Amino acid sequence: MRDEEDGTNSRPTSPSRSEFEFIDRIRRRALRHSSLIPHPSSLLLGIGDDAAVLRQRAGRETVITADLLIEEIDFRLDTTTPRLLGYKALAVSLSDIAAMGARPRHALLSIGVPGEIWRTNFVDEFYDGFFALAESYGVELVGGDVSRSPERIVIDSVVLGEVERGRAVTRAGARPGDHLFVTGTLGGAAAGLRLLERKQNLRGRLPRTLRDAAARALLPRQLGPEPRVPWGALLGEERLATAMIDVSDGLSSDLAHLCRASRVGAVIEARRVPINPAVITLCGRRALDPLQLALHGGEDFELLFTISPRDLRRLPRALGGVPATYIGDVTDDAGRVLISEGSRRWPLAPAGFAHF
Ligand code: ADP
Ligand code: MG
Repeated sequence: MRDEEDGTNSRPTSPSRSEFEFIDRIRRRALRHSSLIPHPSSLLLGIGDDAAVLRQRAGRETVITADLLIEEIDFRLDTTTPRLLGYKALAVSLSDIAAMGARPRHALLSIGVPGEIWRTNFVDEFYDGFFALAESYGVELVGGDVSRSPERIVIDSVVLGEVERGRAVTRAGARPGDHLFVTGTLGGAAAGLRLLERKQNLRGRLPRTLRDAAARALLPRQLGPEPRVPWGALLGEERLATAMIDVSDGLSSDLAHLCRASRVGAVIEARRVPINPAVITLCGRRALDPLQLALHGGEDFELLFTISPRDLRRLPRALGGVPATYIGDVTDDAGRVLISEGSRRWPLAPAGFAHF
């Protein structure tokens, strides 16, 4: 925040809330929540000074990630709620930290909002969602920024995580012969997005109750995804994953990223891909193919990882009710990603989300 007395600053002072009051409220909230965190905090100085101070811990490394969410590009106000948006802003960054095999510890959240939004309850509800998720994983809010934007909301979410020295799991460690696994199920977030876009009319002829039940299962996959924090930390700490990425663009695209970074290829078996069951319920045979949504739909925020065959016996089947499913194998055919069905094999072209 720049000082109000700065003559070049044309920021409006809302009659209902000043920035100062706003930051102070966030600061008190963050403090209250810090006192509840079970692990020892390395936060020496939090919100309220020019910058936060964290204590370095011997033998640990810091993992940092940033995510930008732009209104009309990454979300629309008419298809989500402020609370879900605050939740999701943090969730996408927690997913990146998980994908590094790290534990999330600290967050910075910056937000630019138009004046008319600032004067509503938007920011309060936004932070309700943010703190709800932060609390469930013991993440401390240590700073951020707030400013006015001309038309659209802009959100910048930064999360810092921690790993033991040398334990960060990159995209580059997969070796031929490793097995490929994915947590949870796929396709749900993409189907949820289509429901939002088509006003919940994915398959008009489906009995209403069935359709409503499926929609209830799918909308949260798009609007409030659960980042796979426990899985990520376990796969890193137990040295189980040789490579890992979160499925944000879509399995086909993210698997291609992982294979390129590791200079390997992969074959996945179509029948093993864990499709979200509600997607199968919802997709008419002619309307949309559930497998296509599972392969190419983005934003599931599941973890895609590789594991050496000799470590398989140490891999739990599920963690906190979230399974990890074997979907295929890593090959030495660098850059070639194939999908198999029975005896047939064909290239799996990356067809996931791209911003440009
Ligand atoms: P500066 O002009 O140095 O950016 P600010 O008044 O913006 O100062 O910030 C003061 C303190 O409040 C800093 O600790 C900053 O991290 C924190 N802060 C500002 N905005 C937010 C926000 N949206 N969320 C969390 N902390 C914030
Ligand atoms: Mg500032």
